[in-house]
Amino acid sequence: MKRVIINSVTFFCVMIFLVSCFSKSNSKTKRVLTLGIRHESNTFSTLPTRATDFKVLRGEDVLVDQPWAEEGRRLGIEFIPTVHAYSWPGGVVEKTIFESLKSEILEGIRNADSFDGIYMDMHGALHVEGYEDAQSELIREIRKIVGNDVLISGSFDLHGNLSKDFLNHINLVTAYRTAPHRDGAETKVRAITMLSEAMNKHFKPYITSVVIPILVPGEKSITEVEPLKSIYLQIPEIIKKEGLIDASIFAGYCWADLYRSAMRVIVVASDEKYADIAKHEAAALAQQIWDERVNLKLDVPSGSIDEMIVKASEYNETVFISDSGDNTTAGAPGDNPQVLSALIKHNAKNSLYAGIVDEDALNQCKNAGINNEIDLIVGGKIDNVFGKPIEINGKVIYLPSDSLIGTNRESAIVDVNGIKVVIMNSRRSFITLRDFKELGLNPLDYKIVVVKLGYLYPELRDIAPLHLIALTSGFCNLDMRLLPFKRVNRPSYPLDLDMDWHPE
Ligand SMILES: [Zn+2]
Repeated sequence: MKRVIINSVTFFCVMIFLVSCFSKSNSKTKRVLTLGIRHESNTFSTLPTRATDFKVLRGEDVLVDQPWAEEGRRLGIEFIPTVHAYSWPGGVVEKTIFESLKSEILEGIRNADSFDGIYMDMHGALHVEGYEDAQSELIREIRKIVGNDVLISGSFDLHGNLSKDFLNHINLVTAYRTAPHRDGAETKVRAITMLSEAMNKHFKPYITSVVIPILVPGEKSITEVEPLKSIYLQIPEIIKKEGLIDASIFAGYCWADLYRSAMRVIVVASDEKYADIAKHEAAALAQQIWDERVNLKLDVPSGSIDEMIVKASEYNETVFISDSGDNTTAGAPGDNPQVLSALIKHNAKNSLYAGIVDEDALNQCKNAGINNEIDLIVGGKIDNVFGKPIEINGKVIYLPSDSLIGTNRESAIVDVNGIKVVIMNSRRSFITLRDFKELGLNPLDYKIVVVKLGYLYPELRDIAPLHLIALTSGFCNLDMRLLPFKRVNRPSYPLDLDMDWHPE
């Protein structure tokens, strides 16, 4: 009998313990629905972004190997992933793909059991044909379903252009603090951490933003160099102030002729009662950026293509030259052959031209076969505004391996009198050493390496003995005054040089 009593007492205690554990974890567990459409849309580019350009993940696949998902789970979040779509920067996004992604996201929201928050994994510079502001359209539709009580947190590239309308519907915003980007994963983790804290502490977040009328390319707003270095370094100090949760400096995306294209400072507070301090800090950051506008410059030598090739040939180590007007990482088509033409003119032997998009030329290389001579007309077929096709003659020295035939990663290399020309069947950017290695190339084996980039991405930036920027024409022209802006807000620096401005 005594044993039965002890067992009953033990059973009772265990039950109490389990119930308390369960209710404790239940009070902590929050459900967060996730979605994302990440794209940087160049409105000048003649290359539309199509459905096939997007990589789309759905359901649990979204969460695989994602530090934000791991951190969220550690914080007791249960995720309801819907659709996350991502495409490499390109021209304006076709309406049909956006509308289909949007419907799928909205359906996911309607079908989900109740949830406490939403995480939006965005770039911030999405532009869709037929829409004034597709990102606002998406978030407005989401609000229509979930109402105003569900907290929405978003992570963004600092090259995003968020509109006032969009900001009116989101609760928490955080953006990268580095360009070239080194903190993508960290930023997304921050968006989740902020959301978790806001849900658990029942914040009613308050967002303030100041638009700075500056159009600046990423190459002139590098966060590792002054003047922005010191300004970005203030962020961790600012968010230690009472009531503030986060601060972001959006350099914005300048190759978009849209009313919302500009720099922007966003400060998030945990409650409207901290509005004054949030506004004060946002205005102070914005004023400093405006005051430094003339110092937003390239951090490496730049000049005409000819000047850059001459300068590179005088240097005794490898020199990377960016074909900045045709920057494929900022949405340009990547088929303007102007720098290739100049390399041939200068007889720049031991150069690597990486690379040019031309499917016809690639197929001709395949037909010609390895080690055979070939005459080609390359480039200027997609960018028919700034690019003109050129004739080249060389020997095919590399063809895609069988495993890549039929994929969008086919490349050939043609040796044009000592200039190795990479010809690709689709737009790809050489941003890491792996991109070169895939074709058996080591950029440091060459005297000159031409890349269709603006700034070098971290891995190349760290190894490049010298980097020069060729100020080439194209849809990513680094001189804003040479682009046909019509819709962007005016006055705007540097389109209107004599303008004056102060944060309100
Ligand atoms: Zn970016």
